[in-house]
Amino acid sequence: LLDARDIVKTFPGDAGLVPVLDGVSLSLAAGETMALTGESGSGKSTLLTLLAGLDRPDGGTVLLEGRDLGALGEAGLARIRRGRIGLIFQQFNLVPSLSAGQNIALQARLAGRHDPDWCAALACRLGLAPHLGKYPEALSGGQQQRVAVARTLAVRPQVILADEPTGNLDEATGDAVLAGMLELVAETGAGLVMVTHSPRLAARLSRRLHLARGRLA
Ligand code: ATP
Ligand code: MG
Repeated sequence: LLDARDIVKTFPGDAGLVPVLDGVSLSLAAGETMALTGESGSGKSTLLTLLAGLDRPDGGTVLLEGRDLGALGEAGLARIRRGRIGLIFQQFNLVPSLSAGQNIALQARLAGRHDPDWCAALACRLGLAPHLGKYPEALSGGQQQRVAVARTLAVRPQVILADEPTGNLDEATGDAVLAGMLELVAETGAGLVMVTHSPRLAARLSRRLHLARGRLA
């Protein structure tokens, strides 16, 4: 499904150019779920951004279903990002002028696959049903986070890249969010990469990779 080979990403830092990712390879099969751990600043978000085609690596390749993201133009990349890849950011990036329900449906509408029943099921599963009419400013941090998760799952992406999607949630709510994602994976054969600091949640995924000093172990 997703294949990253020898990814290198370098940012300018105080000590000159520092490689944040220094030859990272990973491969995600359909239906596979992967936990990504690592200290703050180890490059987890950077890696997800590259896997999603939001940024280009300085070296290496990312293949999605055999297609080299680096060989695609902006239009082709944008189409894949909209339809095939679901990226759940550490920041929620909700649209402030849209209600929770409208936020959840937004990306699915843009991708031309809005399914009201599926959106309603997701909202229900994530405990958002009573909050669908509220605007982001009236939602708690955890509720905003769940709206961001639902918005991504609403598209039924082939690859879900989730950056600490349970970071602001209590145990029970975090469990419900993970259950929602695993349900989608089981139903559609999607692949999941999830950044998490919770060993308990990581243990429920099929594989665990740890990022340290630019390398995956
Ligand atoms: P956290 O757990 O805190 O979210 P992370 O593992 O997601 O951390 P990244 O956000 O990927 O870490 O950042 C990895 C390193 O790259 C950090 O040292 C960060 O300062 C640096 N970095 C990230 N983006 C940029 C950028 N656009 N320009 C310069 N440096 C950057
Ligand atoms: Mg991060």
